Amino acid sequence: MMKIKKGDNVLVIAGKDRGRKGKVIDVLPKEERVVIEGINLRKKHVRPRRSGEKGQIVSMPGPLHISNVKLLCPNCGKPTRVGFEVVKSNKEGLRKKEKYRVCKKCGAKI
Ligand SMILES: [Zn+2]
Repeated sequence: MMKIKKGDNVLVIAGKDRGRKGKVIDVLPKEERVVIEGINLRKKHVRPRRSGEKGQIVSMPGPLHISNVKLLCPNCGKPTRVGFEVVKSNKEGLRKKEKYRVCKKCGAKI
């Protein structure tokens, strides 16, 4: 289970975008990297699809390693480390284990 999920708001703590905040738009679990809206922009050349069309240069956010970002807790709003908590629930008579992410600062389930 990844500590950072799509849709999370994170703070960048290293690299050229240090101190900036953004929303996670993609997660690459195998590489432990995340793509954040507007962060780590890279220019990418797009080749023309048809002859006669011009190639374009577009800015796209590049992936950052998850160790370079901190989750912004939606409850307390602070950048935090993420813990995990396993809760046994008894919903509808079914015994299930549910895993939650927990804010290390305020203890809220995220
Ligand atoms: Zn919190």
